[in-house]
Amino acid sequence: MKIILLGASGSGKGTIAKKISADFKVPQISTGDIFRDIIKRKSTLGEQVKSYINYGKLVPDDITLKVLRQRLKRVDCQNGFILDGFPRNIDQAKSLSKISDIDIVLNIELPLEELEKRLVNRRICAKCGDIDSTKYSGFTGYCRKCGTKLFQRDDDKPEIIKTRLEVYKNQVSPLINFYGDKVQTVSNSASPDETYARVKTFLLNLEAKA
Ligand SMILES: [Zn+2]
Repeated sequence: MKIILLGASGSGKGTIAKKISADFKVPQISTGDIFRDIIKRKSTLGEQVKSYINYGKLVPDDITLKVLRQRLKRVDCQNGFILDGFPRNIDQAKSLSKISDIDIVLNIELPLEELEKRLVNRRICAKCGDIDSTKYSGFTGYCRKCGTKLFQRDDDKPEIIKTRLEVYKNQVSPLINFYGDKVQTVSNSASPDETYARVKTFLLNLEAKA
């Protein structure tokens, strides 16, 4: 099962990705994670990635594709994968189609009011990228994974969220057109369990057809 996961920041797609990953035995792959991973491995490609990230620059598409290609060849991708945060635009989608085909594009949507509620509570670890919420039980203000003090991103503040969502929608709509009938849009306004139940049904149906 080769899945692309689309959804605005705060849409709950991360939680859905984790559940798919466990049920369908496919790794969740985000460019942030694979960049961190390749930097640790100290290869030429890793050095290139590091030179962009250390200066706060976007890693160019051709390098991202090389890193992604390596990642998709690893043994844990034999059942497929979930791509989260990539592709972000048509050029990346076209490049991706040269290294892999895709079975389904899950587009997770959440109404603006819901999104606002979630994002104002969101806190992030600058060190490992973990995301927490002040609403979760056991929230301490420190990262559950590495103990670093969590922070609130400036663009998670209410006045900026609406604009960000509009920007996101403008970015994602060409991708939705590009993937056409492979796209399955799922509203995440119900409970997370209900949403995931629907996602799982789509995936099982798809698996049965394959
Ligand atoms: Zn952390």
